[in-house]
Formats: sequence, C-alpha cells, structure tokens
Amino acid sequence: MSSLNKRLFLLAAGAAVVLGVQPGAADAAGLGDGTTAGSPVAAARPSAGPAAHPRFQAPNSRQYYITASCRGWESQIRDGASTWIGLTETTGSGTPVSCQNGYVDSCNAGSRIIGCNWGSGQRITLAMNLAPNPPLLAAHEFGHDWYGHSSSGCQDWNSVAGIMKTLNC
Ligand SMILES: [Zn+2]
Repeated sequence: MSSLNKRLFLLAAGAAVVLGVQPGAADAAGLGDGTTAGSPVAAARPSAGPAAHPRFQAPNSRQYYITASCRGWESQIRDGASTWIGLTETTGSGTPVSCQNGYVDSCNAGSRIIGCNWGSGQRITLAMNLAPNPPLLAAHEFGHDWYGHSSSGCQDWNSVAGIMKTLNC
C-alpha cells in the first residue's frame, strides 16, 4: 500500500470523512458543512466557460453574492450556482460567498475542509484552488442551502443526489 493510499485509508476510517481513491479527491463531510480535500492539487484555474450540466429546481428561492475574495473564480462559482433553479446572484443580499486559498479549518466538519456552508445559507466559504472540480464544489456547497449529503462517493452533475455526494473528485 502506497503511503498515499495508506493515508487515504486512514482518513477514510475517521468519522464523517470519506475519501476517494483518486489523488486530489476531495470530500464533503457533515451537514451544512464542509468539503475535505484528500490531497492538495495544483492551483491551476481551469479556463472559464460554463460546463454543460443539468439544472434542478430548488425547493425554495435563495440569493447569494460573491465577495471580492473570490476574484478570478466568479465564472466557476456562477457555473455551479446555475445548476439550481431558484438560486440567483445579487449585489449584496442573500448568502455571502467568500474564497480562500487554504483549508477551511473552522467548518467543524473534519480536517482538510475545502468548502463550507454554515447554517444552510448563512455564509459559504470555498477553497476553489484545492478543488478537483471547482464548479461542482460550488454547486455542492450551494446545495447545502437545502440538502444534506446523499451518500458517499464522487459528486456528479446528473442529479441532486449526485451533486450532494461527499466527494469532489
Ligand atoms: Zn457537503
């Protein structure tokens, strides 16, 4: 067992942390909550441009705004947000979305957290540079406005349950 795999295994054995086998896999843990990175990934920012992904009706309407800390990541955050019909961007009302380049240690959802949604929409912090799939991380954290985790495994765009899986891979 490689040291990486061993480390991933050990982390997987921890409470509320489920890690994928892919290097750089990231994990979301807890309700309302954080996303944990298995290992750091390159800080390269993928080229802008909305991904083709389905959209899903949110249970109720919510608003958000992107703070200056997310400069450079706006299009990817909007891409993630766009999956939720009923979630709209504003200039200063609704959930404030902040970005940071390191782990979100204060999420109370485990270690190596790369995203957190406190209080089901009170505020969101994203470490987009540590996410294997930054728009999907944003979609996942926005999803915590309404939903908890569906199951463990790699997130996908194909369903609400897919978005709300634990791993950002
Ligand atoms: Zn989560």
